[in-house]
Amino acid sequence: TLPLIEGNVRFDNIVFEYEKGRPALKGISLEAKAGESIALVGHTGSGKSTIINLLCRFYDPVEGRVLIDGHDIRDVTLQSLRSQVGIVLQDTFIFSGSVRDNIRFGRLDATDEEIEAAAKAVHAHDFISQLPFGYDTQVEERGNMLSMGQRQLLSFARALLANPRVLILDEATASIDTETELKIQEALKTLLIGRTSFMIAHRLSTIRNADKIVVLDHGNIMEEGTHEEL
Ligand code: ATP
Ligand code: MG
Repeated sequence: TLPLIEGNVRFDNIVFEYEKGRPALKGISLEAKAGESIALVGHTGSGKSTIINLLCRFYDPVEGRVLIDGHDIRDVTLQSLRSQVGIVLQDTFIFSGSVRDNIRFGRLDATDEEIEAAAKAVHAHDFISQLPFGYDTQVEERGNMLSMGQRQLLSFARALLANPRVLILDEATASIDTETELKIQEALKTLLIGRTSFMIAHRLSTIRNADKIVVLDHGNIMEEGTHEEL
């Protein structure tokens, strides 16, 4: 198991292929110090999702290692890894149940107060309060009574409550109205405080706010630096 982690993440010379002879990552070395945010950018097929897949241990590298605080993540139980590495996906996973339960998710011990505090912190409380039954409103699996922006805010509240040291964000590409967009930007800043994060970033504001931008191309790192440097 991982003891309480600091959140240093290092990809050490990673080679990975889904199919033999077709490497998706061709020797990636990348480090995020505890608390740093990294934006992964690059064309379709460049390897952004693959990097995330390896950090979540959906796959293991063919060569090289992924280290958290110096521990190879292969030596850590999946349960321990999952409790410290959180993921917010583009297509937020909403299950049939109340809004409250959707925010609570894995944090079965969370009180109503904690759930509402998380929602408030990411600006989700206002729209939730306006739903027919507030936090007790039932949503469907497809979440179709919620807009994309609202789903995103809900997933931020869930992530904040889960409080992982390492956060992965696959940012939604859907166009969102300006007001919600601003809320999302602010919420994201709140969510990133004190965590190491890897973001597949689509919004310029997200890229600009990242500590480091990593540009991928055909499984290689092409450029790496701050927004000012690139
Ligand atoms: P996008 O912006 O489209 O999401 P990406 O940068 O996330 O692209 P990856 O999904 O990491 O790209 O893909 C990297 C390479 O691996 C691509 O050549 C892709 O075709 C291949 N690939 C990705 N997933 C699989 C899979 N499950 N099986 C086989 N090949 C895959
Ligand atoms: Mg992808």
